[in-house]
Amino acid sequence: MEEQNITFKYKLEAKTPRIEPGGGGVTRGVSVKDFPASQNLAGVSMHLDPGAMRELHWHANAAEWAYVIKGNVRTTTIDPQGNTYVDLFSPGDVWYFPRGYGHVLQCIGNEQCHFILIFDNGDFSEDHTFSITDFISSVPPEIAAQTLGITVEEVAQLPQKEVYFAQSKAPSVHSGIGSAVKEVSLTSPHRYPLGAQQPRIVPGGGTQRVVTQNEFPIARTITGTIFEIEPGGLREMHWHPNADEWQYYIQGKAEMGVFLAERNFVKDEYEAGDVGYVPMGAGHYIKNTGEEKLIVLIGFNSGHYEAIDLSDWLSGNPKDLLEGNFGVSAEIIDKFPKGDKFLIP
Ligand code: MN
Ligand code: MN
Repeated sequence: MEEQNITFKYKLEAKTPRIEPGGGGVTRGVSVKDFPASQNLAGVSMHLDPGAMRELHWHANAAEWAYVIKGNVRTTTIDPQGNTYVDLFSPGDVWYFPRGYGHVLQCIGNEQCHFILIFDNGDFSEDHTFSITDFISSVPPEIAAQTLGITVEEVAQLPQKEVYFAQSKAPSVHSGIGSAVKEVSLTSPHRYPLGAQQPRIVPGGGTQRVVTQNEFPIARTITGTIFEIEPGGLREMHWHPNADEWQYYIQGKAEMGVFLAERNFVKDEYEAGDVGYVPMGAGHYIKNTGEEKLIVLIGFNSGHYEAIDLSDWLSGNPKDLLEGNFGVSAEIIDKFPKGDKFLIP
């Protein structure tokens, strides 16, 4: 193994968070600026207090994919056709807002919310995030007054800078002044209940749930997956032909190794709150090295899921060819996997 400067690990939950003077929430983000390996995906871990909201905003350079770990979240969003949506999310649910769509995130109910946001651009940052109070307080008051149908004096009562986290006292799913606000519906273009999906199960190894644009059509640029790997279990050596991989470790301990060709190999230990990254096409694996179940959330920057597993590849090659490639006896080659192993106990 050669000397390595690059790391594929970032301790996100150890980062100093962004906290606003008014309280309401805590947010920790990681982009290519802090974590040079993460060229094409960025992420945020956000906690909101009950009633608190990440105010109305949009992202100019990235779509937003999210997974709820804890609590209940209400979102609203608007698409370019002028359709507005109100949705409710619980642990295990996923949302997706295409690049540029206006949205808000609010913690409802009486427990704190925690969710992970994944953006399909490594250069995602607050520089490319546009909040409604920042917009209104940046334009001439006359323009804001004419747009909102209020007086200039009334404009002066609105926030004079970005609020970021705002607080609402009585969140009700039916509240709202907008005539277009709709009832919450069971099915939604922006919500996918990933936790309710029947997983792929490998006895003794673990489970995987995946949501691509096939199941969740609006999520054209991000695929998400949740792995639950049993102690000692291995997500075997594999690679993704079409996407980079952004990982958030929710529970447990892991070893994750990334192979970059020409003997370049980087291995690290991961625990809850850590982020990992694997560039498109790079070989890698994840092993549960702890005593409890390992839970990892993964986002890929493609709406399609593609993976090639070493076991699947080898078992599709003639035995004599493998004997020649590895220069070993048929007895050893006979022990190689037959078929895709995927998660190995
Ligand atoms: Mn957002
Ligand atoms: Mn992978």
